[in-house]
Amino acid sequence: MFLNYVPFSKHFHILLSFPNVWYSNLEKKGKFTNLESVTNEVKLMLDPSAVPPPVDPNAAPQRFGAKDVRDLTWKNLMDSYSCTECGRCTSVCPANITGKALSPRKIMMDTRDRLEEVGKNIDMHGPDHDDGKSLLNDYITPEELWACTTCNACVQACPVNIDPLSIIVDMRRYLVMEQSAAPAELNGMFTKIENNGAPWQFSPADRMNWVNQD
Ligand code: SF4
Ligand code: SF4
Repeated sequence: MFLNYVPFSKHFHILLSFPNVWYSNLEKKGKFTNLESVTNEVKLMLDPSAVPPPVDPNAAPQRFGAKDVRDLTWKNLMDSYSCTECGRCTSVCPANITGKALSPRKIMMDTRDRLEEVGKNIDMHGPDHDDGKSLLNDYITPEELWACTTCNACVQACPVNIDPLSIIVDMRRYLVMEQSAAPAELNGMFTKIENNGAPWQFSPADRMNWVNQD
């Protein structure tokens, strides 16, 4: 009876932990994914003779980053159902330890709760129903997202190789690229990179001035 109960209960993570570890991200910690569309734009800017990839005029506009669970990858969603809520990630998170609002454990639990809410909405109202809520703001606040130092300690500590950082980074992408809602400190850095090609406020022409200093 217990085995039959497992898939419908909070113990579902027992079954999902095996495939979740199998599909772990084996790339080096700290290696981030690129947005393909942005990478293509940069390549075209650097090489005007490059041929742009074909575009489907009927395709729906692509979202940059993630606002809700529908924007996350299937692995992110499987991560949320594999979480045992053990709290190892939060206990090593430097943001949490220093009193910030962030808890990677809560990020995973919020993702699962929102996923279940979306699933119930689909059952009751069909696949296109919009309940006016989203993972961002209704469950996870920008304050939590910007508290992350992207140190990967939570990923390292998780016993079933869950990656809360991937969700955090994708939601930050949405804030920056779709809402232009980066913190003021980052906006200053973005402007300097755009103007000077570096995060500092010096002109590229002055870069070698240090050679002539006494
Ligand atoms: S990557 Fe972010 S959420 Fe994970 S431990 Fe580091 S600061 Fe905390
Ligand atoms: S360490 Fe992994 S399993 Fe434990 S609460 Fe964090 S994400 Fe969930």
